[in-house]
Amino acid sequence: MKLIFLGSGSAFTVGDGNYQSNMLLESENGKRLLIDCGTDARFSLYELGFSYQDIQDVYISHLHADHVGGLEWLALNTKFEPSGEKVCLHLCKSVNYSLWDHVLSGGLSTITGDVKNLSYYFKIDEIQEDGSFTWEKIKFEIIRTKHVEAQEAQMPSYGLFFKINDQSIFITTDTQFDLDTLQPYYEKATIIFHDCETSERKSGVHATYEELKQLNEKTKQKMWLYHYHPGMLPDALADGFLGFVKKGQHFNF
Ligand SMILES: [Zn+2]
Ligand SMILES: [Zn+2]
Repeated sequence: MKLIFLGSGSAFTVGDGNYQSNMLLESENGKRLLIDCGTDARFSLYELGFSYQDIQDVYISHLHADHVGGLEWLALNTKFEPSGEKVCLHLCKSVNYSLWDHVLSGGLSTITGDVKNLSYYFKIDEIQEDGSFTWEKIKFEIIRTKHVEAQEAQMPSYGLFFKINDQSIFITTDTQFDLDTLQPYYEKATIIFHDCETSERKSGVHATYEELKQLNEKTKQKMWLYHYHPGMLPDALADGFLGFVKKGQHFNF
């Protein structure tokens, strides 16, 4: 099984040889699960020689455009492609609740004839809060993280915890620094891919490098950082991390 980072940058990534943080998990028998499909996805997939036809499944962590902005492209391509095979979307119930009405319906509801809905384009695998889904015999636990918390509305993201062979892998997706939620998974995981904000201006919705630097050595020794800002990066290796993930970097499990 191979985890490929199509990009490892933040939502604001332009240039500097990176794309937004979307990943591709590739199984031994050639199946591919895209982990988030942001506005960059068509370019980042193309750069590594993939097209929408190589994707059978997509996991969606939350509704920011760097994670869902490529879904219209994927929907229309698969719809008009002769084989017509629908891609399966795996997503938490609360993400599914808003994805069509608040993100996709504007561009996709009226392509021809009658009004369409999400299941016209995709197979839907709706996951319960604290639930899981299975892909290629791997069970993916979804972990609700604290991401955007406005006074009257919250937008969590849903990270992934899963096991392949002897590795326990935790991908945080977008998250604030929140030990109450994350610490148990830091302990259980053998490898962690962590959202890491490196920009000077703090958004308040991502874990910052300075916060992550305070973690104990044991945790940092199994932690890769991603979803970082374009520009200069601190010396993550010197600070005890495994490093910043680079665009196109892959991990074999
Ligand atoms: Zn993001
Ligand atoms: Zn986000």
